[in-house]
Amino acid sequence: MKKSEKKFFWEEWRIYKFFKSSPSQEKNKKGLNFYQMGGNGLIMCENCGFHQKLISFIHGFPTNNSWTISGYQCQKCGKFHEIKNDNKYKKPIKCDCGGILSRDNELFCPHCKNTDLKYWIKYLT
Ligand SMILES: [Zn+2]
Ligand SMILES: [Zn+2]
Repeated sequence: MKKSEKKFFWEEWRIYKFFKSSPSQEKNKKGLNFYQMGGNGLIMCENCGFHQKLISFIHGFPTNNSWTISGYQCQKCGKFHEIKNDNKYKKPIKCDCGGILSRDNELFCPHCKNTDLKYWIKYLT
């Protein structure tokens, strides 16, 4: 992490865990996906610097109607969506642009489509 980034993130975010996609020279290169990430955090593209807050997966307690919020990404435009109680939706869930939302695929940057992403978790449930 660059010094300026570090300052920015450590001040605003209490970091529990940090994820990064594997370096491109590694075999079986895998980008980030929602299943490995979890929680609520911040995603950042290493290529273009795009960043935004993102929910990967959070849930309430069983006494609290067992709500969940799951992160999805449109496979067409790359927009991130937060879907509440996704098990009540008919699959596939569609984006405003008509693309299909998925949380099974590798994440990519909505701006430059690069898969070299970092994710900081702010909190987990
Ligand atoms: Zn990017
Ligand atoms: Zn879309």
